[in-house]
Amino acid sequence: MDTIVLKFGGSSVADNQRLKMVAEKIIDLYQKGNKVVVIVSAQGKTTDQLIEEAHTLSKQPENREMDMLLSTGEQISIAKLSILLNEMGYPSISLTGWQAGIFTNNTNQNATIEGIDTNRIQTELGKGKIVIIAGFQGYNENLDITTFGRGGSDTTAVAVASALQAKNCYIFSDVDGVYTVDPNKIEGAKKLPALSYPEMLELSSEGAKVLHGRCVEIAEKYKIPIITKSTFNQHAGTVITDSIEENTIKSVVKKEISRISIIGTGIIRHTEFIKQILDIIAKNKLEILELHVSESKISIDFKHEVPDKILEEIHAEMIS
Ligand code: ASP
Ligand code: MG
Repeated sequence: MDTIVLKFGGSSVADNQRLKMVAEKIIDLYQKGNKVVVIVSAQGKTTDQLIEEAHTLSKQPENREMDMLLSTGEQISIAKLSILLNEMGYPSISLTGWQAGIFTNNTNQNATIEGIDTNRIQTELGKGKIVIIAGFQGYNENLDITTFGRGGSDTTAVAVASALQAKNCYIFSDVDGVYTVDPNKIEGAKKLPALSYPEMLELSSEGAKVLHGRCVEIAEKYKIPIITKSTFNQHAGTVITDSIEENTIKSVVKKEISRISIIGTGIIRHTEFIKQILDIIAKNKLEILELHVSESKISIDFKHEVPDKILEEIHAEMIS
């Protein structure tokens, strides 16, 4: 029997109707004979709302109390999902971060996971249950609740998958994968079928908001394949593994307003790629502040704001 980990983001569990879709995905994989562990985020904009509410009480709420508050968002999601699965006839149990054995350092609001005691999870899986775990939270040596920084549920999912030596870690959200360029801004963006861990790490650090950066590092270290998919359609997603396909440019991404990065393993050995980019920049009369080239990335810092049109042009010429 394979163990698989599924993570659903906030928009995937925003209301009862969506929870039902999530439950159906879970049931499908459970019925195929997998041991299923599910990580969920807080519903919809819950975390933003909780932060706002705290700030109506204090200009600077304590980090410890913020963790106490924000962790409640995920707790609502796990309980609701478990109630629903049980109602649909599939045995399930919800666990908070500490119940799931997720031990962290003491950095409230930005804790890192130090270890996971998987005993409780394994026991519940052994009873045939679907185990639903609150994302983004753990506990520290003082038995206080800690959280992992915004978007941290991805990291919970990959860390739990690593601790369980799961076969795969699926990250479900409202986008069906990783694209060659931001599909919300640039026309012609294409979904990438596969990507390597180093490429995904570069993408996260250069501003792509697909996955929490730290989760990719953990996945790489423990060799857990990450599969990003949409909750709302059946399209094939993007698979992130250590298999590297060299010499093609995978993605262009813009960070803040004046940095563009072009990502693809082996890029450093292709002077023609660099030349192509420099031509586009010259043609558009943009001023470069700095250019960095590494094994899998060319990054350019511009002197002024770069319009998305440049991103579009680089994408059109070099990728699509
Ligand atoms: N609920 C948290 C947030 O919105 C964690 C997460 O969604 O991964 O940042
Ligand atoms: Mg969230």
